[in-house]
Amino acid sequence: MSAPRLEIDLDKIHHNARTLVEQLGNRGISVTGVMKSSLGSPEIARTLLRAGVKMLGDSRLENIEAMQQANITASMMLLRSPMISQADKIVTVTDLSLNSELGVIRMLSSAAKAAGRTHGVVLMVELGDLREGIMPADLNDTVRQVLCLPNIALKGIGTNLACHSGVSPDAKNMSELSRLADSIEAAFGLTLDIVSGGNSANLDWALSCTNTGRINNLRLGEAVLLGCEPLHRQPIEGLYTDAITLIAEVIESKAKPSQPWGEIAQTAFGIKPPAGDRGNMLRVILALGHQDVDPDGLQGPNGIAIIGASSDHLIIDSGEFRLKAGTEVRFQINYSALVRSMTSPFVAKVLTHTSKNRLL
Ligand SMILES: *Cc1c(COP(=O)(O)O)cnc(C)c1O
Repeated sequence: MSAPRLEIDLDKIHHNARTLVEQLGNRGISVTGVMKSSLGSPEIARTLLRAGVKMLGDSRLENIEAMQQANITASMMLLRSPMISQADKIVTVTDLSLNSELGVIRMLSSAAKAAGRTHGVVLMVELGDLREGIMPADLNDTVRQVLCLPNIALKGIGTNLACHSGVSPDAKNMSELSRLADSIEAAFGLTLDIVSGGNSANLDWALSCTNTGRINNLRLGEAVLLGCEPLHRQPIEGLYTDAITLIAEVIESKAKPSQPWGEIAQTAFGIKPPAGDRGNMLRVILALGHQDVDPDGLQGPNGIAIIGASSDHLIIDSGEFRLKAGTEVRFQINYSALVRSMTSPFVAKVLTHTSKNRLL
């Protein structure tokens, strides 16, 4: 089989999504399945929908279009604040978008009017992580102006934490979002359908807090695909952490010195020789590099250590293992490695099903 490749186990992804949809459903929270690290794969999208996600979300229009061309009819949420240059397309291919700029929403309004459509808007609120969001003090004023715009439906409010500054979702910032939802409803006499509390980083809070307040939606990508939460990168109980794995092939395997020789200057990507001379060691090269994956996000089998990487080569210390050329090595990946390898044209994507031989 071709290498490098990602093996994507749709049954494990289904299990992860189903488990989270049920656990959050018990707490009144629906799930938007986030597709942005899956390049709009229709098979992954269908797997998430079968598992009960309410709608699909993506940060890129190209992925949303790819899903629609594959006849996926679910509601599509644009996660990244819209570019004005894409306003016409956004109102035709998505149902709603997360927004924080009034000027952009005005352009969406004219585009929606021209297209004879209504576009849903979720206003993002800044609650401390300092990426996208309207400052809470400016929210009422923005709502007032959005409500005047033709062909725009105010669907709700949301926030995004733990992405830029690592601010954890907790009782304090989540109850602030609930309070803002209540206050908008009271001030304008309307109902907000969606109060979207955040991403995979919200799971700790959502599944352990005593009161989820008004939060009724989370947008989940990493937790579903990798089975781990992004705050401390710990596995989530009951989920598979190996639904997606990366396989690479050995192209050189030799006993060589542990230390380089000659005059030492810069390396291509900063390969560090291991500290201390250990004499000869088994050095193995895999056909895998920065063009395929984020090498820092790889975890190899026990007993194998990654020494360094350049554009096309990954050098490992294979310890006790003699891995001759042609051998395949399987890696666990983190979110950064997942995003890079999913979007690399050099990495094959192979969909698999465990359920053929194992009950889920
Ligand atoms: C990427 C993204 C998500 C999903 O984040 P995960 O950590 O993968 O769950 C949710 N919301 C927004 C706005 C995003 O950009």
